[in-house]
Amino acid sequence: MIATNLRESQLAEFEMYESNVRYYCRDMPAVLARASNARIWDEEGYEYIDFFSACGSLNYGHNHPLMKRRVIEYLMTDGMLNSLDLHTTAKRDFLRTFREHILAPRGLVYRVQFTGPTGTNAVEAALKLARKVTRRRTVVAFTNAFHGMTLGALAATARQRNAGIEQNGIVRLPFEGYFCADTRDLDRYEAMVNDPSGGAEPPAAFIVETIQGEGGLNSASPEWLRHLAGVAHRLGALLIVDDVQAGCGRTGDFFSFEQSGIVPDLVCLAKSISGNGLPMALLLIKPEWDQWSPGEHNGTFRGNNLAFLAASVAAQLWNDPDFIGSINQSDLIVRAWIDNAVREFGATAKGRGLFSGVSFSDRSLARQVAGEAFQRKLLIETSGSYGEVLKVMPPLTIEPELLSEGLRRLSDAVEVSLSRSRLRTAA
Ligand SMILES: *Cc1c(COP(=O)(O)O)cnc(C)c1O
Repeated sequence: MIATNLRESQLAEFEMYESNVRYYCRDMPAVLARASNARIWDEEGYEYIDFFSACGSLNYGHNHPLMKRRVIEYLMTDGMLNSLDLHTTAKRDFLRTFREHILAPRGLVYRVQFTGPTGTNAVEAALKLARKVTRRRTVVAFTNAFHGMTLGALAATARQRNAGIEQNGIVRLPFEGYFCADTRDLDRYEAMVNDPSGGAEPPAAFIVETIQGEGGLNSASPEWLRHLAGVAHRLGALLIVDDVQAGCGRTGDFFSFEQSGIVPDLVCLAKSISGNGLPMALLLIKPEWDQWSPGEHNGTFRGNNLAFLAASVAAQLWNDPDFIGSINQSDLIVRAWIDNAVREFGATAKGRGLFSGVSFSDRSLARQVAGEAFQRKLLIETSGSYGEVLKVMPPLTIEPELLSEGLRRLSDAVEVSLSRSRLRTAA
C-alpha cells in the first residue's frame, strides 16, 4: 500500500501537467533514471530489462560505450553541435563511414539526404521527391502500414486515429498475406493502371515496410518484394522502402531488404541510424532521382553532430565480427524461445531476426502479457490492429544471459496470462 502511494505521488506530476497524448508511459508507469545496454534503472533503483529498445531506436543498446566516449570527447572540445546543413567534420566522417562500411560492401550507390530528425520527416521527403520526379500524385501504400504522424505520412499510414485527414492521393493495396493477398493483387492493380478503363491513375510510388513493425510484425516474402519492385518499375513508379524500424540491423542485416535482393529507389532511415537514440533521419536516394532544387526540403535540425558521431560508430560496428557474432547468437536464443512458445503456448510466430514476436488466438492476451512482464521488471510492447502481437525487441547487443533471463520472465508472464484467460473462458 505504501509502495503504491509512493508510486502514485511520483506519477502525479506527469498526470497533472503532461498532455493526455502520452502513451507508452501509461503501460510502463515508472520514472526512469539511468540505462546501460539492455538494463534500465528507475528513480527508486529498481532494475528493468529492456525488450523494447524505444521502438527500435536503441538497437545498439543504451549508452553504448564507444558512442558515449565519442560524444563526451566532442563536447569537451566544443565540437559544433547544431549546424543546419553546413559542412562539419562530424558529418563528413559519417558520410565516409556510412559509404565505406554500409553502402559499398553491399554494392549500393545512394545519395544521402539529411532530413528533419524524425522518421516521419524522411517519409515526407520521400513522398514529395517521388511526386516531383514522376510528376504524378498517387502513392500506393499497404494495409497495416505505419509511416509516421505528420499529415503526408499519416495519410499513408493504414490506421488513422484522427479520422477526417486528407488522403492526399494515397491508394491502399493489401500487404502480402492480408486476407490471403499475394502477387496477384499487385498484378491486378498493374492491369487496372494499364487499362484505359481501369480507373486507376499511374502512381508516383509504392511505399512499403518489408516487415510491418507497428502493423503487427507482418513479414513480406522475398518473392513478393521482388514482384512489387517489378510492378513499380514497369509502371514507372518509384519503390520506397520505409526501413525506419526494420532497418539498422533489426532483421540481422543492416537493411531489411538485403535478402530479397531488391534495390529500392528511395530508403527511409531513422530510429537507430544514430545508434544511441539521438534524433537523426535520412533519405537514401538513387543518384538519378536526386532532383531536388537547393533548399526544397529544408529544416532546422538536420545537423545534429552528436548523432552523426554516434552514427559513424554504429556504421563501423557492422565490420566488427564480435558485433555480428553477438547478433547471430541473440537471434538463435530468441528463435528458440519463439519455437517453444509456438509449441507450449499455441502462439503464432511473427517477424524475422530480432524483429520478431508472437501473437495469440486470444487477441487481448499480448497486452495482458506485456502488463505481467512489467510487473516482472521487463519492458515489452505490443503492436498490430488489436495490440495482439508481442514484440520481442531487445537491443541487438544484449548480453546472452540477460536475454535468457528476460525470456524466462516473459514465459512466466505468458503462463500467468494464459491460465487467467483459461479461467475466464471456463467461468
Ligand atoms: C517509427 C516509424 C516511423 C516514424 O518515425 P518517427 O521518428 O516516429 O517520426 C515511420 N515509419 C516506420 C516504419 C516507423 O516504425
